[in-house]
Amino acid sequence: MTVPSGAAGAGRRRVLIIEDEPDLVRGLRDALEFEGFEIMAAGLGREGVTLARDRGPDLVLLDLMLPDMNGFAVCEEIRAVNPVIPVIMLTARSQENDKIRGLEAGADDYVTKPFSIGELVARINAIFRRLQRITPREEEITIGTTVVYPRRHELVRRGKTMALSFYEVELLRLLAERDGQPVPREEILEKIWGVSSNSSTRGVDNVIVKLRRKIEDNPGDPRHIVTIYGTGYKLVMD
Ligand code: CA
Repeated sequence: MTVPSGAAGAGRRRVLIIEDEPDLVRGLRDALEFEGFEIMAAGLGREGVTLARDRGPDLVLLDLMLPDMNGFAVCEEIRAVNPVIPVIMLTARSQENDKIRGLEAGADDYVTKPFSIGELVARINAIFRRLQRITPREEEITIGTTVVYPRRHELVRRGKTMALSFYEVELLRLLAERDGQPVPREEILEKIWGVSSNSSTRGVDNVIVKLRRKIEDNPGDPRHIVTIYGTGYKLVMD
């Protein structure tokens, strides 16, 4: 099986930018096209939802403050048509509470404006590197009464199927590979988000919260995704 990589023609990854600041769109477009991505852009939330539905991008960069809709509503509508696509929300520094709401609405990650385009590109490249590494014969992961199907971005628990986002799948995969050994937050951040040390690890913690809601009987007192204080997390599979 050959997997198209980088800037190689027909296999180019497609990034949808939903953002109403023309200078920012221009900067992102230049940097991402230079990296070999195909870019589509929308300045309105409604237009972004339509592009996400009709043109099947591989990743979405979503501004929180748009002229016609707020980013949360846009994110929810995109999630309704594509539950697994990676969505990175672009928020302003003063919108701390909004980050939490954004993650509730289904965004997996966020960057705070003003951000370094270099760091954002690193995160996007990390997502696509990991997507490429998924092997065709990958097995399922059984965690208690839950069976996770990484390639389908789904889990089944007590007869109910739930969609998993890109970050949820990757985090479970990484913890499962360690077979019960603790994995430091910084390592999770570097391997999955593609960013190192100085960045906030809150994105990791938020994905953990979402996973516990899907997997644990009692998400407030988790049995399977266990916090190791001062370090990170480990996965208890039985
Ligand atoms: Ca805006």
